[in-house]
Amino acid sequence: MTPSVANGGTAVTRLWTGDYYNEGNSSNDSIFDKVKEECGVFGVFGHSDAANLSYYGLHALQHRGEESCGICTSDDGTFHYHRGMGLVKEVFDRDRLESLPGDQAIGHVRYSTAGASRLANAQPLVFKYRGGDLAVCTNGNLVNEPGIRKELEDSGSIFQTTSDTEVIAHLIARSPKNLVDAVKDAFSRLIGGYAFLIQTQGTLIAACDPHGLRPLVMGRLGEGYIFASESCALETIGAVYERDVQPGELLVLDKDGLREERFAQMQRRAVCAMEYIYFARPDSDIYGVNLHTSRKRMGQTLAQESFVDADIVTGVPDSSISAAIGYAEQTGIPYELGLIKNKYTGRTFIQPSQELREKGVKMKLSAVRKVVEGKRVVMIDDSIVRGTTSLRIVNMLREAGALEVHVRITSPPFMNPCYYGIDTPDPRDLIASSKTVEEIRKAINADSLYFLSERGLIDSVGGHEDEYNRGLCLACFNNDYPTPVEFEDAKLTSCSCD
Ligand code: SF4
Repeated sequence: MTPSVANGGTAVTRLWTGDYYNEGNSSNDSIFDKVKEECGVFGVFGHSDAANLSYYGLHALQHRGEESCGICTSDDGTFHYHRGMGLVKEVFDRDRLESLPGDQAIGHVRYSTAGASRLANAQPLVFKYRGGDLAVCTNGNLVNEPGIRKELEDSGSIFQTTSDTEVIAHLIARSPKNLVDAVKDAFSRLIGGYAFLIQTQGTLIAACDPHGLRPLVMGRLGEGYIFASESCALETIGAVYERDVQPGELLVLDKDGLREERFAQMQRRAVCAMEYIYFARPDSDIYGVNLHTSRKRMGQTLAQESFVDADIVTGVPDSSISAAIGYAEQTGIPYELGLIKNKYTGRTFIQPSQELREKGVKMKLSAVRKVVEGKRVVMIDDSIVRGTTSLRIVNMLREAGALEVHVRITSPPFMNPCYYGIDTPDPRDLIASSKTVEEIRKAINADSLYFLSERGLIDSVGGHEDEYNRGLCLACFNNDYPTPVEFEDAKLTSCSCD
């Protein structure tokens, strides 16, 4: 049983070497000081068109990671895979997909958080171990990965990537137990926020961290099972949403069908609030909450908390449009397209100088002069990270003739780093960590500034009332981390956005 690969017949055992082309490719939004999406995972079990379904599913998850992607299929005991740097549509074409036969697959889109941005870290990672072939992909970040990695290295493990995912594979491979028990043992050692898909020949395993920090849903397509980071990917391929993978749960699919197991008891549910505020697509649902609807409620709540008399409301595209509609509905102030995003700027655009950087923002975003000229504008955005982008957008509106610019933010001040897979800058660069709201207002040149309250955010998302924070993680706003993070070598999600 020799594993084969779709990209030139290289054996699985020589994975992660060479091929570092396009290294350091910048993210599409690198000119904006947003915190960055983490990654997206997609899995298929029991459908003969696994590779094509994965292609379309990953395409729907593209917003979660634009740097690299990959698909690994399993066909009658043989793995086939391909990974590359770039967008899904750039890395895969018809021939490539035809070279990935099989009725099960896992796939991944990546924005680098932990681990450098290079092909070696593109996922799924594929391994050969005593139980056969193993493919693993993940979304999230392990806080205690450095300690586990060091322990494994001290006892002889050799790592070929800087990815968390490889650490999991080593833990599984070293266990003398059967696959499912080995996976449970491995996961019981992990601390962090993660959603995993693991594939062997004939088995697919899906798992979520005990707090449910990273979303993962399961759907059905005919007799087949589909897993995806967001439900929008299920819609795209015509699959029917079945349920969210629960915190601490391990779902195992093999020839006997679906088994629902656990590797940990569910702890306090703490779904990443930034998924609701910014990351996930508006047509996705997380734990039954539609993203567009919850963002609209954030806008309505903002309006209740901080009404300002103005002529128009506009949202910074794309993630703040739903909230701007909500703010407009609540206040009766007309919603207008005061800002337009150009979707066709190149992903590889670079900004070697400040002047080009400013032009870069204008390439991505424009103020509509005829809409904002002579108007008092309420500008809705989802977050302020460093403040640099907010300043540019406010100035853009002023240059287009806005008389006043009132900034309303659909999250509380972002003042603490994330340890769970969201790429945040050095905490000292988070403007809210060192400045008051009034100081931030001055720094971004706004006439007024208001951040949605923590309570307003929690109520707008509207999770279960009997859960702590109604099931949300709010640590980057309030420093209340759902897991321990105070390890000597705790890994902060690295920053590669500037
Ligand atoms: S710290 Fe913030 S960004 Fe990180 S998981 Fe929690 S809510 Fe999300």
